[in-house]
Amino acid sequence: SAVIRMFHVHRRYGAKQALVDVTLDIAKNEFLYISGPSGAGKSTLLKLLYLAEPVSEGQILVDGMNLSRIPRRRIPMLRRKFGIIFQDYKLIPTRTVYENVALVLEARGKKRSLIEKKVKSVLRVVRMEDRLTAFPPSLSGGEQQRVAVARAVIGDPKIILADEPTGSLDDDSAAIIFQLLNMFHNRGATVVVATHDKALIESATGRVLHLQQGRLDRPLDI
Ligand code: ADP
Ligand code: ADP
Repeated sequence: SAVIRMFHVHRRYGAKQALVDVTLDIAKNEFLYISGPSGAGKSTLLKLLYLAEPVSEGQILVDGMNLSRIPRRRIPMLRRKFGIIFQDYKLIPTRTVYENVALVLEARGKKRSLIEKKVKSVLRVVRMEDRLTAFPPSLSGGEQQRVAVARAVIGDPKIILADEPTGSLDDDSAAIIFQLLNMFHNRGATVVVATHDKALIESATGRVLHLQQGRLDRPLDI
């Protein structure tokens, strides 16, 4: 069964067609790669899923919710379904490792004692428990991305979206990030990774889709 369905989705920026007639089902607990060169529309596709941007045309269903019919006040509920990981980590540089991860649960009004327990537990999983009080700029890229993974998964998202998650990392750090993604996939999450990294795609374990100038290479799934 599909957790994400896209029907004839288009996204335009002025005259630029970033996505053209994309129709796609993503199954529950799938590990899916979206490949394709820079500018192919990979980031745009991910952004449409978590409503960072609206579609120009077409429909998207996430967990049965039609994104074009979600009232503004319920967008935060939609976003809670996602954990998102970016190439450039997007940690808050003036907040500690602990605070960066805790913020997610604070925004949801969770109790302080529960937050502390969960943050420490998830930072243990990504092996950053010794750096709770460090600030992101003092960490290596690999360490920052492990914190970003912790932040992405602390709310128990159904779906993890990763946009070039290893694009700024050395091979060893990249391998750790993929071990973590595989772990959360094994625990039941649906994982979608956008990447132009051909080596990564060759070693991919899940389904690989290819975007080219905003179009999916092969018709699929409908
Ligand atoms: P990818 O992630 O595959 O590198 P993007 O989704 O970022 O590709 O971009 C797809 C196309 O849309 C590119 O041609 C890009 O220049 C264009 N694009 C993306 N975002 C914007 C924007 N906000 N305004 C105008 N053009 C954009
Ligand atoms: P990526 O998708 O590769 O992670 P970006 O989304 O930042 O990186 O940019 C991808 C492409 O989209 C780049 O070619 C960039 O110039 C273009 N782009 C992004 N935002 C805009 C924008 N607001 N206006 C025009 N082009 C944009």
